[in-house]
Amino acid sequence: MSFKDLKLIKPLLKAIEASGYTEPTLVQERTIPVILEGKDVIVSAQTGTGKTAAFALPILQQLFDKQDAPKRGKKIKALVISPTRELALQIQQNFKNYAQFSNLRSLVIFGGVAIEPQVDVLKKGVDILIATPGRLLDLYKQDLINLDKVETFVLDEADLMLAMGFIDDVKKIERLCPEEKQTLLFSATIPYKIEELANSILKDPERIDVTPTQSVAQDVSQVLYYVPKRRKIELCLHLLRNTVKGNVIIFRRTKFGVKKLEERLAEKGYRVDSIHGDKNQNDRQTALNKFKNGYAKILIATDVAARGIDINELDNVLNFDMPNVAETYVHRIGRTGRAGNIGSAYSLCSADEKSYVKTIENYVNVQIPVEKEHPYPLDPNAKPIVHKKKGSKYKKGRKSEASKKKKRRWY
Ligand code: AMP
Repeated sequence: MSFKDLKLIKPLLKAIEASGYTEPTLVQERTIPVILEGKDVIVSAQTGTGKTAAFALPILQQLFDKQDAPKRGKKIKALVISPTRELALQIQQNFKNYAQFSNLRSLVIFGGVAIEPQVDVLKKGVDILIATPGRLLDLYKQDLINLDKVETFVLDEADLMLAMGFIDDVKKIERLCPEEKQTLLFSATIPYKIEELANSILKDPERIDVTPTQSVAQDVSQVLYYVPKRRKIELCLHLLRNTVKGNVIIFRRTKFGVKKLEERLAEKGYRVDSIHGDKNQNDRQTALNKFKNGYAKILIATDVAARGIDINELDNVLNFDMPNVAETYVHRIGRTGRAGNIGSAYSLCSADEKSYVKTIENYVNVQIPVEKEHPYPLDPNAKPIVHKKKGSKYKKGRKSEASKKKKRRWY
């Protein structure tokens, strides 16, 4: 199938060609015609499948027909809600790119940056608004935004919205839009709560399941290393020196873990940057840009900060900590092996994380190949370290300086 078969109009076909896309992805093939018919949809598709274009292209086409010539005083006709700033920015880049041969205007708004420049652009008028829930409601409360003319409402990464506690905000925003509108819901997974939300805000939606959520892209090779927790840093350095070729995103579960690892890799002379919740938006964007343009070869990230970020040609993902939620593993791995590229995923598993591997393997229905040939193997009989709670019955003696130093652990 070609983009022409999807009955897309010339300015969009021109932009698609300029982007270098030769044919639609599966989610685009299945979703675009349904949106163009004006129906509500609920689509289960992960990032990396081309889902942003699957909603951006038909929205632009619908607006294109109606676009009013004046640039000023435009009303928001399409509203896209996204859970994270990075994702929101990426969605707007997609809209800008596909709208390059039209005079349709888009704006992205999110918290953590000054509100005034966003308000200035809003006042000039935009057709498409991409927003994170908090900032949008802030603007609404200050009477700086009008959603009366919204015709299409898009909820992207709905399951992440749920995980981040945004669902009530989303429901509020939906009620601020006119009742008569087209609603498009995209989610990597469709748990019960998302079904419930869909039932409450979508009208007779068409359900499109593109990839089973459990599937890991075929083009990603996965390897598992069992390693004692305290040796993970050494194994990580060993892999960076000898095995990992190209750029890599290293995932850690906590902000604290991200910062510690970044310090350690920088000490070793690696060009490394990081994104996590303690960084403001500008710093996160700078880190992402440095990584995208190849200045930093290593980006260390927490899951929430990295969710959905689109980096073309990401060669490797390294799970320094095993994710304790199986779906997170699929999301992390989904960063690489995108749009036909080959990727590698390395996972470091300590004794206390073994149960996570079992859950992940059951979820993806594949046994992750184990690499035993490495310098820091885990004793197969090693028991997870159980940290004693405060107030334990064991007496705490005075510790020597040497033993305190030895205790500096890798969390
Ligand atoms: P997404 O799932 O929207 O995050 O898209 C993932 C990546 O695929 C982005 O870099 C898009 O630019 C790219 N992409 C989207 N549609 C196509 C297509 N039809 N052919 C090739 N690449 C595409």
